[in-house]
Amino acid sequence: MAERALRGTRLGATSYENDRNTDLAPRQEVTFDCPKGHRFTVPFSAEAELPINWECRICGALAVTATGDLPTPKKVKPPRSHWDMLMERRTVADLEEVLAERLAVIRGQRGEEQPATTERRPSRQRKSA
Ligand SMILES: [Zn+2]
Repeated sequence: MAERALRGTRLGATSYENDRNTDLAPRQEVTFDCPKGHRFTVPFSAEAELPINWECRICGALAVTATGDLPTPKKVKPPRSHWDMLMERRTVADLEEVLAERLAVIRGQRGEEQPATTERRPSRQRKSA
């Protein structure tokens, strides 16, 4: 009779689900070789982007994939610099023109007709012998 008594279990403590009729996500095993000779496999989701390195489970050193079949690296576009973007819209001749316009405007604002470099320094006076 005691065997039949209902026993309580804490909620959330135990999962009553079993593995039957559950589809495990497709996975793949990747083998890593540690520089100290340890070899181990790590399961990954089939969709996962595979790492090239993994910390060795035995000694903690950085292990590398054993199989040589590295995941094909995605082709990454080289980042466009500001200069690249500028050159898509302008030519150097355009830019020269814009620069000349801007310089004219700036000089006009300063009220300088001539570049500052022509400023004359008083010439030294020589002592006559
Ligand atoms: Zn190791």
